[in-house]
Amino acid sequence: MDIKSYVKEQKELLKEEISKLEVLPSFVIIQVNDDPASNAYVKGKINDANEVGIHVELRKFSPIISEDDLISEVKKVNDDPSVHGLIVQMPLPKHINEELIKLTVDPLKDIDGFHPMSLMSPCTPKGIIDYLKHENFNFVGKNALIIGRSNIVGKPMAKLLLKEHCNTTMTHSRTTREDMEFYVAHADIIVIAIGKCAFLDDSFKFKPSAIIVDVGINRTEEGLRGDAKRDLPVALQTPVPGGVGLLTRLTLLKNLMEAYYHFTK
Ligand code: NAD
Repeated sequence: MDIKSYVKEQKELLKEEISKLEVLPSFVIIQVNDDPASNAYVKGKINDANEVGIHVELRKFSPIISEDDLISEVKKVNDDPSVHGLIVQMPLPKHINEELIKLTVDPLKDIDGFHPMSLMSPCTPKGIIDYLKHENFNFVGKNALIIGRSNIVGKPMAKLLLKEHCNTTMTHSRTTREDMEFYVAHADIIVIAIGKCAFLDDSFKFKPSAIIVDVGINRTEEGLRGDAKRDLPVALQTPVPGGVGLLTRLTLLKNLMEAYYHFTK
């Protein structure tokens, strides 16, 4: 099933599930910047929530808010039993310590999965695993290659693929071209998240049975593009746009439901 149809189906199931609940699942988004990219992400999250019947409230603050005041705002949501999830939209202004704010969010309400003790996994890696499981991908003993070692995608992706019993390798900006070619050629599944348009291209050799999961989002003159060139000679390649981004958004809603049931069951 393609990702768009999968996400549509999953959202319909969520909507049905939520319509039967007595207490509405609810989350708060705290936003401390006004840049167009963040506004677009926040709008997408609000639309997704509304679509399935989840209550969402946006609390927007001036970028000159002090770190202490922001911490108080986070704690207010932590302490509010009527709210099940909290997102602090990143990035934060430079005078605020992002790591400190991430650690202030109640791990049980941390639907982004950024807190080390979070009940939930980060949305992008979890969304990828859920989708591949739905497609009956057999992870056991497969060679998984993750290109990119960020805290929100690469590292948690490695953890989840290991949990699925993949032979898991990570490469990054310091990996030599020769080694990169070696790992790519041996990979059964490649998850790339580096933010470099068409980094994976025809100059690499792939297993014809390989799967490429393209996380990258690059704004080009032709529109949004991934980290892999389109139509590479592999068995399956997720598209950009209309691929992993949709899985990430879906997983935020699923994480909220996980938090909701934690508090209400
Ligand atoms: P990042 O931007 O924080 O870090 C980039 C990573 O890529 C680093 O680990 C670095 O080592 C690696 N890297 C950079 N150049 C490289 C090279 N030439 N070869 C190998 N590795 C290299 O990472 P991020 O936050 O995971 O974002 C990566 C991309 O994924 C961005 O395009 C971002 O927009 C996108 N993204 C998409 C989603 C989604 O839902 N689709 C979610 C998160 C991030």
